[in-house]
Amino acid sequence: MIKMKDISMVYDNGAIALDKVNINITRGEFVFIVGTSGAGKSTFIKLLLREILPTSGLLVVNGYNINNMSTRELPYLRRSLGVIFQDYRLLPNKTVYENVAFAMRVIESPRRLILRSVNSVLDIVGLREKYKCFPSQLSGGEQQRVAIARAIVNNPSVIIADEPTGNLDPETSWEIMDIFQRINAVGTTIVMATHDRTIVDTMQKRVIAIENGRIIRDEASGGYGYET
Ligand code: ADP
Repeated sequence: MIKMKDISMVYDNGAIALDKVNINITRGEFVFIVGTSGAGKSTFIKLLLREILPTSGLLVVNGYNINNMSTRELPYLRRSLGVIFQDYRLLPNKTVYENVAFAMRVIESPRRLILRSVNSVLDIVGLREKYKCFPSQLSGGEQQRVAIARAIVNNPSVIIADEPTGNLDPETSWEIMDIFQRINAVGTTIVMATHDRTIVDTMQKRVIAIENGRIIRDEASGGYGYET
């Protein structure tokens, strides 16, 4: 699914954000990426999405060689990834239904399939009855659930979540994690960057800890740790 071999990322100003990182993430894994601010987590995620290109090393995501793929292939890479951010990033002038349907319209899915798929993912996140609401009429947790519905509607094999519970209270955060667990249980790989110690310690999933651009720990079933 995701393979990094000696991946380094040096920004134009000389900042070394990642330094020879080696990682393998296989299908169906649930992985937390932890580390203090400035450790390199966002850089890691931007590389997976091909928002930036690594300075050196080999990166393969869902079979696409990030350094060596054509722009024609880029939409297919992006479609194979579902992305969720801390700040939800919904379209404010579209309803819940339209926010989710939009992800299918841009890839020109047939109307009937859109109707069926959007209803199905709104069921999964428990928001079917709110399909007519606008984002401003929803709580933070509900908005994040719409973002999750949008991320999964095209059946991506990997979900990438950058601090998805960062703006939510503990109870709502657990509702979001419950949805992630269910998505993971049907085989979707989850890669989640987080600062939430309680969630990481409680879930006991794989933990990759980054510090100063290096992996300082990679545990199959770990906790948040003291050092990060
Ligand atoms: P995190 O997400 O863990 O807070 P980042 O990946 O954002 O860490 O940052 C890692 C390092 O790279 C930091 O030293 C940061 O200052 C630097 N950095 C991040 N983005 C840029 C950029 N666009 N230009 C220059 N330096 C950057």
